[in-house]
Amino acid sequence: MDRARAASSGRTGVGSCSTHGLVEGVKTAPPRSFPFVVYLARRVAVRRGPYRCPMCGEPLAPTGEVAPPAGAADLHESVGAAETTRAPRAMIAPSGGEASAVRVRGLVKSYAGEPAVRGIDLDIGRGEIFALLGPNGAGKTTTVEILEGYRTRDGGEVSVLGRDPGRERAHLKPQVGIVLQSTGVERYLTVAETVTMYAGFYPHPRPVDAVIDLVGLDAKRDERVIRLSGGQQRRLDVAVALVGDPDLLFLDEPTTGFDPSARHEAWDVIKNLALLGKTVLLTTHYMDEAQFLADRVAVIARGLIVAEGPPATLGHRDRARVRVRYVLPPGVSAPAGLGGPPGADGFTEVSVDDPAQALHQLTGWAIDNGFSLDGLEVTRPSLEDVYLSLTAAVDSSEPDAKLARGSQEA
Ligand code: ATP
Repeated sequence: MDRARAASSGRTGVGSCSTHGLVEGVKTAPPRSFPFVVYLARRVAVRRGPYRCPMCGEPLAPTGEVAPPAGAADLHESVGAAETTRAPRAMIAPSGGEASAVRVRGLVKSYAGEPAVRGIDLDIGRGEIFALLGPNGAGKTTTVEILEGYRTRDGGEVSVLGRDPGRERAHLKPQVGIVLQSTGVERYLTVAETVTMYAGFYPHPRPVDAVIDLVGLDAKRDERVIRLSGGQQRRLDVAVALVGDPDLLFLDEPTTGFDPSARHEAWDVIKNLALLGKTVLLTTHYMDEAQFLADRVAVIARGLIVAEGPPATLGHRDRARVRVRYVLPPGVSAPAGLGGPPGADGFTEVSVDDPAQALHQLTGWAIDNGFSLDGLEVTRPSLEDVYLSLTAAVDSSEPDAKLARGSQEA
């Protein structure tokens, strides 16, 4: 690193290097390059980035550190003087062995007198992947942004990693990563430059190359952001949110607009986060995504949580009646109790409580009589079926959505 040049440009500052201790750090201007806009973007990135150790190039932890931003949207926000000192990690961790990463009681929020969130309770355990589902306008974003500290609440208690995001957002920033629906990263930087730049905002970032590997962008390490596909840019968003090594990640519709293979790759990335012990709160409109990723889901409708639990048992779907469908030869009627006349699609359908017993009877009867049961299907209600019936119930029983919750969780 050209320390003399940096010093002559006045970009030096004292900071702490984990290898070399307290040193005079430098910010070196990037070499002139074309196109000029790329050069400018790199220059801005260096200026905004940390001082670096002149011996090893490591970003320096400033003495009297400024709390780094939580994510792309936060990059340009200044932090108030009273909130600028970041406690060491161990001090930030909530005291008293707090088991919940997120705890919400009676959260309410209105816009111009119109209620958007009407008394939400939530508990998200550490290391859990939790999905918030709900139709448009249900109150998901409002809830999540209150948890992130970006919106104020009108009432209720909120604790995120043991802190109140409404009052202690600056303290929470280093521990929280946020992936918004739209990206805010500099388009002319490369993947590695972008992640490096964000790493510079944190005193204890994860190694840049490891983060790039984790999100599956190693082959695109030196590609400019502007040349990445939508799915690759989303991965970069996740990398940016991850590089500060947060404990909790908020992912807002992380795969909206992805093609199926990109979605599956993104799911792998998110599962990897759980393996790292991160807590993930995601919002999604895709039921298969929630089913695949989430340990637990909550369905919000009209500002209330109407059901909550593991995807496999939400709305008691594990105990719901099983649907059996099959096609009989023309002119043949189903045995009593195992189906009526066929529907327009030719399928005979029946809902049963005991599928083993019903199938035993049905297949025994078919074999005895030499019939095939074409297209035989045995299904329980999918997460989507349960979601649709829950949200439809709220629509029709408005305003008392709590009734729906009670009936589903009885
Ligand atoms: P989507 O799935 O469409 O993103 P959502 O579940 O995230 O929806 P919110 O964005 O939280 O829903 O909105 C909940 C309600 O609050 C909606 O009726 C919305 O119109 C209203 N709302 C949200 N933000 C504001 C705002 N800044 N000012 C006024 N009303 C708002």
